[in-house]
Amino acid sequence: MYRRTDTVPVRVGNLTIGGNNQVLLQSMCTTKTADVAATVAEIKRLEEAGCQLVRVTVNNKEAAEAIKEIKKRISIPLVADIHFDYRLALLAIENGIDKVRINPGNIGRREKVEAVVKACKEKGIPIRIGVNAGSLENHLLEKYGYPTADAIVESALFHIGILEELDFHDIIVSLKASDVPMAIEAYTKAAQIIKYPLHLGITEAGTLFSGTVKSAAGLGVLLNAGIGNTMRISLSADPVEEIKVARELLKTFGLITDAPTLVSCPTCGRLDIDLFSVANEVEEYLSKLKVPIKVSVLGCAVNGPGEAREADIGIAGARGEGLLFRYGEMVRKIPEADLVSELKKEIDHIAAVYAET
Ligand code: SF4
Repeated sequence: MYRRTDTVPVRVGNLTIGGNNQVLLQSMCTTKTADVAATVAEIKRLEEAGCQLVRVTVNNKEAAEAIKEIKKRISIPLVADIHFDYRLALLAIENGIDKVRINPGNIGRREKVEAVVKACKEKGIPIRIGVNAGSLENHLLEKYGYPTADAIVESALFHIGILEELDFHDIIVSLKASDVPMAIEAYTKAAQIIKYPLHLGITEAGTLFSGTVKSAAGLGVLLNAGIGNTMRISLSADPVEEIKVARELLKTFGLITDAPTLVSCPTCGRLDIDLFSVANEVEEYLSKLKVPIKVSVLGCAVNGPGEAREADIGIAGARGEGLLFRYGEMVRKIPEADLVSELKKEIDHIAAVYAET
């Protein structure tokens, strides 16, 4: 159903990443993981927004121990983000984590890597190798001089090799860079030679505005080429925004089936209503729905009826009022002051019909 480049499927909790499965959306908590109440509250908000698996930092023993309690209170798979300390990985696995993000080449002595791999194998837990252009191994920086797409891919192959040598194959790989062309090149090359699912991301992309543009530019190219099996948008913002952006991006490429679509015009001198407010309020309302309803909000009768015919519900602005269209038919006129509330009622009605089918 979701055409992707060929990868092996990898189980994460009750989900499967890779193969021809849906591109799964993830984010990362901003809370201290040891603060169970705050972390669970953030995960619930993320889940409501459409997050399908969530990562927490496991940077100390308290964080690793909190996993047990967090797992009891959430229903989406939980991923531990671990750097270097294999004991934290073992503790996270013991406490029920569903996936570990750790680079085996950074763990240290072979017996430490073996201990992590053995624990993951016993519990059927995958490992995500997270290569980042900003933290490439010294031997690669010496070879290439500076971070390049080839160096990123070679780093991924280096870590994969360590796991494969131990006969471990439940692997997911990310190859992140904040340089968009470099990330595109690295993922494109990796997709040709790495058989494991790819976790997409433009790292340190920036704020809500600039990070959204950068992520959409880079990840859009990859998604359109069938590359990528799970995705995290990295923003200096509330992580719920990361999920909203990710869902919008998947929707753009027809890779999600439960997201509403809003069509709205840029407005021009023909406009006679406050369309920006209407569009923003409707968009916010739609963002909470998980049905493929299409709503159009157009400023005037020039393009309004045409767009409304393609939508489930739509309005075309007129002087101080709006013409309401349902499934392409004009049904009534609504005073401008009531446009949003009436549209919400219509949306609820149509969403209920979708939910039943
Ligand atoms: Fe202008 Fe009407 Fe087109 Fe909106 S729909 S941009 S108001 S002509």
